[in-house]
Amino acid sequence: MKLTKGKLYVCPTPIGNLEDITLRTLRVLKEVDAIAAEDTRHTIKLLNHFEIQKPLTSYHQHNEETKGNHLIDRLMAGENIALVSDAGMPGISDPGEILIKKCIEEDISFEVLPGATASILALVASGLETGRFSFEGFLDRDKKNRRQRLEEIREEDRTLIFYEAPHRIKTTLKDMIEILGDRKAVIARELTKRYQEFIRGNLKEILQHLEEHTPKGEMVLICEGADLEEQRMKQQEILEEIPIKQHVLAVMEEGITKKEAIKKVAKLRKLPKNEVYKEAIDI
Ligand code: SAM
Repeated sequence: MKLTKGKLYVCPTPIGNLEDITLRTLRVLKEVDAIAAEDTRHTIKLLNHFEIQKPLTSYHQHNEETKGNHLIDRLMAGENIALVSDAGMPGISDPGEILIKKCIEEDISFEVLPGATASILALVASGLETGRFSFEGFLDRDKKNRRQRLEEIREEDRTLIFYEAPHRIKTTLKDMIEILGDRKAVIARELTKRYQEFIRGNLKEILQHLEEHTPKGEMVLICEGADLEEQRMKQQEILEEIPIKQHVLAVMEEGITKKEAIKKVAKLRKLPKNEVYKEAIDI
């Protein structure tokens, strides 16, 4: 047994175009003792293409915990191991996170190599705001959980990145339209591949497009963040339509006192405080 621990190399692989693998990743794949792959049958094709022969071992969602411990033992024993997923960056909607946590706990050194990921490519190509963004990955398949997550991020003002499967995209778009409203969005499809396509428009327009053209292939959905100013104005407009007394009661539900609520409503409705007070006297 070697005295020094081995090292884990987290290696991104192409998301479609085989040229999108870095020289460094290729060198590392050639130099390590073994490669842990999400699907060994898939990775063998990549390795064959680059004429790399290495022992492969499977490491996927369903054996992440047990296999992770086994990989840690091998790293402890001095082996250098590369981790790859089927496509893109391991750890991004793919196995990786648990193994990296274990490496940190066990003081095993690791290196994450830069490379392809569908999320960032789609975001940059979307033409939407890239300064701040929120990666949401896959929404839950369960309708209730999916809609609940959308409710939770309704007021997220950063650009949103979702991964979605073609057979679920229309349902997801319908939920989004209902919960987030009809925002600007882009579907980035088959990135880096022959039939790469960007479908741009509002969520409703994109849904309409997909009603006419069956969604196919891998896709990322980029959606504009919430316009909080517009949401606030709309909320205020709605509140201004209700009687002053009810407005005060609604504001009090936020957990503030009647006095504070009167002050707030007066400010929101641009009214003198005593006028609001008169209306709210019997609360
Ligand atoms: N680890 C990968 C990455 O870094 O992008 C993501 C893996 S996740 C299991 C697979 C999802 O990524 C697909 O369902 C799709 O949403 C997105 N994806 C992967 N390759 C893509 C491509 N070439 N074009 C568009 N989306 C892609």
